Amino acid sequence: MIANKIVLRFSSSLVEQAIIYHLVKDFDLVINILKADINPHKEGYVVLELSGDSENYNRGLEYLKNVGVVVEPLSGTIVWNSERCLQCGACTTFCPAGALYMTEPDRKVHFDGSKCIVCESCLLVCMARAVEVRF
Ligand code: SF4
Ligand code: SF4
Repeated sequence: MIANKIVLRFSSSLVEQAIIYHLVKDFDLVINILKADINPHKEGYVVLELSGDSENYNRGLEYLKNVGVVVEPLSGTIVWNSERCLQCGACTTFCPAGALYMTEPDRKVHFDGSKCIVCESCLLVCMARAVEVRF
């Protein structure tokens, strides 16, 4: 038996396919969806807990990779340091989950940790080192 929290990323060509359904039906896996969203470019992500018999689990992951779904482990926690933040907004355009976002009309950057899927995209774009990942 294996149980892991993972992030699945879907390209726009995959979001309308019944991929989660096949994981359950064809590989007898148990799925607990924790977060899911589709961005304006029609790319989607799902954060889920996936569990099942280890052979089925591995076959299920192989299926995901073969159809083009990117599978990543969910690890760590993102911490945003508002005092270091320069309010440049760069991270908000890369954050796929809307966890780092800008309010209008004040154009202030905020962080909602409950939406974060720990993809670490913000780490790459933040020159001020205002975001960090903690394990
Ligand atoms: S990229 Fe860094 S400095 Fe810019 S808004 Fe995001 S957290 Fe703040
Ligand atoms: S790691 Fe950063 S870019 Fe990724 S979802 Fe969390 S806040 Fe957004």
